[in-house]
Amino acid sequence: MKKIIRFFSRVFGFEKLSKYEKDYLHDSNIRSSRYMGFIVVLLEAWMLIRQIYSKIVPKLQAGGDFSELFIKYTSKYWLFLLIGLGLMLFCLFYQRDKKLSKSKFIALLSIGSAEMLYTAMLSQEAFTQPSATITPIMANIMNAMLIVIYALLFIIGASIVTYALFKYLKNKNVVVLEHVAIISFTLICLAFGVYVSYSDFWGGKEIICFLTMVIYVGCLLIYRPYVTVLVLGASFLGFYHVLLTFQEGGTFKAQEIVINGAMQKIISGDAVNYITFFISLATICFAIYHGRLSEARKAKALEKSAKEDALTGLFNYNNFTKLARDKVRDVKDGFNENVFLFIDVHNFKAFNDQRGFEEGDKFLTTIAGYLSDIFRDSLCARQADDHFVVFTKANDLQERLSTLNDLVRGYDDEILLGINCGVYRLSGNNEDPRLAIDRARYAAHTIKNRFQTIYIEYDKTMSEAFRKRLYVINNIDNAVNNGWIVPFYQPVVWSDSKKMCGCEALARWKDPVYGQLFPNEFIPVLEEYRLIHKLDKAIFESVCRDLREAMDAGRSVVPISLNFSRLDFELMDAVTELESLVKKYNISRDLIHVEVTESALTDNLSILSDAMDRFKELGYSLWLDDFGSGYSSLNVLKDYHFDVVKIDMRFLSNLESSEKARTLLDCIIKMANRINMLTLTEGVETKAQADFLHQIGCDRLQGYLFGKPIPKSDLLDRVINGELLVSDKYL
Ligand code: C2E
Ligand code: MG
Ligand code: MG
Repeated sequence: MKKIIRFFSRVFGFEKLSKYEKDYLHDSNIRSSRYMGFIVVLLEAWMLIRQIYSKIVPKLQAGGDFSELFIKYTSKYWLFLLIGLGLMLFCLFYQRDKKLSKSKFIALLSIGSAEMLYTAMLSQEAFTQPSATITPIMANIMNAMLIVIYALLFIIGASIVTYALFKYLKNKNVVVLEHVAIISFTLICLAFGVYVSYSDFWGGKEIICFLTMVIYVGCLLIYRPYVTVLVLGASFLGFYHVLLTFQEGGTFKAQEIVINGAMQKIISGDAVNYITFFISLATICFAIYHGRLSEARKAKALEKSAKEDALTGLFNYNNFTKLARDKVRDVKDGFNENVFLFIDVHNFKAFNDQRGFEEGDKFLTTIAGYLSDIFRDSLCARQADDHFVVFTKANDLQERLSTLNDLVRGYDDEILLGINCGVYRLSGNNEDPRLAIDRARYAAHTIKNRFQTIYIEYDKTMSEAFRKRLYVINNIDNAVNNGWIVPFYQPVVWSDSKKMCGCEALARWKDPVYGQLFPNEFIPVLEEYRLIHKLDKAIFESVCRDLREAMDAGRSVVPISLNFSRLDFELMDAVTELESLVKKYNISRDLIHVEVTESALTDNLSILSDAMDRFKELGYSLWLDDFGSGYSSLNVLKDYHFDVVKIDMRFLSNLESSEKARTLLDCIIKMANRINMLTLTEGVETKAQADFLHQIGCDRLQGYLFGKPIPKSDLLDRVINGELLVSDKYL
């Protein structure tokens, strides 16, 4: 039963509408009214021309007075023309929340006032001259209608004037006046239709004007369906039942009337036709209403998706920065009491891995809820992934952040969760929110993985490092194009002969401002900003070019290991890129080793495993970098087919003193051999380490003991002067 009631109340438009929906319907009506105004202007202009040609011109030729004739035959049409024009301009100039410009204000003010004056002048006719009708009662009815029409015309003029004054002087939305103008217009149309058709009918003509007016009103102006039923129903009832079947002193019957001696009939079937007409029209109005409502809902959803983060319902980053910019501008003093926060969730990746994406999404939505509660009246948004940003007041910041941290930490008993937050204090009201967020983000980044520290403020000591990061991001293209990115080569040697069997290419950024930059200064930033592929492509190309030059010069060459970032596989087609370089410089594939770090592979992304397979098929040697530094080393060994495993240098740190470390290394090397992988240990700095590694069967060694990463020319010098012996086998 409830369902049925709900269904009907929805169909008839009794349901509660949101402000957005109401405004949308209202705005649609205003848009339609522009056309209505335009139609009225056209119609009245045509009527005026007609009057001039058919009435005034013949009478002028017969010697009539022009001004008298002009007033007599055109005054009413001018009035309606003025009304149409006023309505059209009023609706054309309509803009929610915007001040009216001076010229528009003057236009509306003049046209509205002219209407009021003119209406007042002409309305006297309704009181003084009874309309030419066949009966006195009819004359009274028609005069009453005329009075109503003039009153409504006057109201429209008055509402246009008042509306213009409010909009221009106070920039206030005056929805009531907008409604008054449109509703008055609706009523005028209906009254006009009834008035004209009523007299037409008594004059023996069809009631086309009435029908036109109800269609005009019903299809262009859409109110709630029950309102439509009431208004149209009342017009039909009033017109058909009360007026057309009106009996005066028994002189004529309902369906048969005598006009000027002739019998006029309302054909009996018409009652049914009128009802059918009314129902059809009402149905069309219903359909348009519901169509508009669903448009409103779609528009709302679209608007929402452009402004909100789809998962959490917080603002999205773009919208956040836009709103924050306005808020920042509004700050007039006490700038540093306003802060931007960048909040990162500790261990979110681990949570996602262990609990699955769905739970991960739920967790993020919950965090968004915490944020909205804790930072009420502030701007909160999700920037991306597990990163949130807030623009708020600095008071009680510490308490608020520790509440947030406690809530996040308490979300899961088994996974150590928490937040780290960077805080950036505003220093003026012309700051760019994006830069402020970047700074807060940088600050947060400095306490990543420090679970005890919840937040840190961005300060001057950070600004130099931050500037450098920004510099890297902004200059990566310059660096690539100007050759600031160069590979340094670090030798890899056989553990038995200590002869060089390869080199690892390690990137260096030779900067005109900062001098030489090391990978830890640019690789993490470039990864964070998803620009790393630009650098890697440049390094790959330089390496291929260096190999080609060496070969062209007749020197013997050794294979070079290239470091691939995990993102290289997302940001470019890494296999194709390398292949095209290898072809361009005509390099044999066995001169290139593909190094991928272990941590890159823990995500188990299909693009990564596909790329690994393609490299393998093409004949590249695959090397697993930094083995033992991540979390899931053994799975990586199981899931991928590497030729060489590079054991992380951390295993060597206490080799001499720790029996455990020695046993562990021994086991790793044996295990790798058992699954047909060769081994290399990185970071070999002492002879004792090298001897031990050789003794337990590690095939290759790399480290400062044999050489630091150096430029190509230095490497060549070392080979030429015999410091570095080159092996004749490198497989
Ligand atoms: P990685 O690939 O594990 O490279 C070995 C790092 O250990 C190099 O640091 C190297 O200089 C350092 N190293 C080598 N032998 C020793 C030693 O005996 N003692 C010590 N303490 N360190 C040693 P570097 O050049 O600073 O590179 C750091 C990391 O940056 C690299 O680690 C690699 O992951 C990344 N990287 C370097 N160049 C590139 C590149 O062109 N592309 C990408 N994607 N990553 C690169
Ligand atoms: Mg490496
Ligand atoms: Mg390594």
